[in-house]
Amino acid sequence: MKNITILGSTGSIGVSTLEIVEAHPDKFRVIALTAGKNLELLVRQIRQFSPRLAVVAFPEDIPLLKEMCSGLDVTVMGGVEGLIAAATADETEMVVAAIVGAAGLIPTAAAIRARKDIALANKETLVTAGHLFMDLVAEYGVRLFPVDSEHSAIFQSIEGHRNEDIQKIILTASGGPFLNTPPSLLPNVTVRDALNHPNWNMGKKITIDSATMMNKGLEVIEARWLFNTPVERIEVNIHPQSIVHSMVEYIDGCVIAQLGTPDMKAPIAYALAYPERVTTGVKPLDLTTLSGLTFFNPEPEKSRCMGLAYRAITSGESMPAVMNAANEIAVAEFLDGKISFTQIADAIERTMSSHSAYDLITIEEVLKADHWGRELAREICKEIGH
Ligand code: NAD
Ligand code: MG
Repeated sequence: MKNITILGSTGSIGVSTLEIVEAHPDKFRVIALTAGKNLELLVRQIRQFSPRLAVVAFPEDIPLLKEMCSGLDVTVMGGVEGLIAAATADETEMVVAAIVGAAGLIPTAAAIRARKDIALANKETLVTAGHLFMDLVAEYGVRLFPVDSEHSAIFQSIEGHRNEDIQKIILTASGGPFLNTPPSLLPNVTVRDALNHPNWNMGKKITIDSATMMNKGLEVIEARWLFNTPVERIEVNIHPQSIVHSMVEYIDGCVIAQLGTPDMKAPIAYALAYPERVTTGVKPLDLTTLSGLTFFNPEPEKSRCMGLAYRAITSGESMPAVMNAANEIAVAEFLDGKISFTQIADAIERTMSSHSAYDLITIEEVLKADHWGRELAREICKEIGH
């Protein structure tokens, strides 16, 4: 029996994680759940999974959550203090980090310091502070399991192999909803078009990141830290079918890949149950029914955001934090109808151009760089938006 905390239980990853827990009550027990704004879903989850601690991210919502939980045997907390309490709860052995954005940083760091193993969905943590997190993981001797499907695929493809035998890592990308859209039409695509991902059903922020290809840029940085591989050895292939979840090429020319039906329950279950495997209900893969698997290089014009991520990771420690912050703001402004789709990349690029990168020694410094990037990106969006 493994005791778990889910940070961000009401999101797409959180809900899929609870489906795995529901299917295996003999293997997983929920100790704490945390949510942002969706209190109704949180309360339904509390009724079903009986955590001893429930946390709402925004302190002003604590009274309402308490009222909604009256009569239930659960402690209610809120704010960063509550998120940290959930991440460090005594009985918890593994924390599923499934908050979206840089908001996941502090609770995930607290979980590592409390010696909890981490199932990491929140890629922004490694993007903004990869070197600090990998140091923390080593210092506290915890295990960090990737939940991101590409990184789970790489993790499964490198088991039993030596890091020095890796020639390169090949991340696959679906290409998102605009795979076949000519670049000249991208300035006019709508929020609805951008949210219409062909293969994966995810939270809004990552869905927009997939459409701009920033998601793949964030994943390159995530892979750089998780697998201690320089970015020069990390390549991206567009693979519209999303069947090959990623690959590792070795120095002898052999390539090992992991394949499966695109469903996040598979990588979540692998992170939760490692080194065992548990049933997930994911549809088995029947290659004979597929019309073909294709791979090609991304077009630079349609993957500007990914280019910015490569630029950020090579230009110094604070730059990815600033880039990530600018991206979070620009995506929110796009979803809000304030800037156009292609202005997301414009805003990030302009924010990065105004920043001189410096070293980041502490998480507080990461948060400062993040704050700086947000403020500037907000101004830039106001200036360029309508
Ligand atoms: P989501 O928007 O569906 O859910 C996010 C969760 O975080 C929700 O529970 C929300 O209430 C909570 N939250 C939001 N803002 C918060 C804040 N400021 N403080 C505390 N909690 C907050 O997002 P998602 O799609 O589940 O993605 C979660 C993370 O996993 C992201 O980092 C994403 O990049 C990563 N990821 C997601 C998928 C996917 O299939 N959805 C795949 C790979 C990686
Ligand atoms: Mg992914």
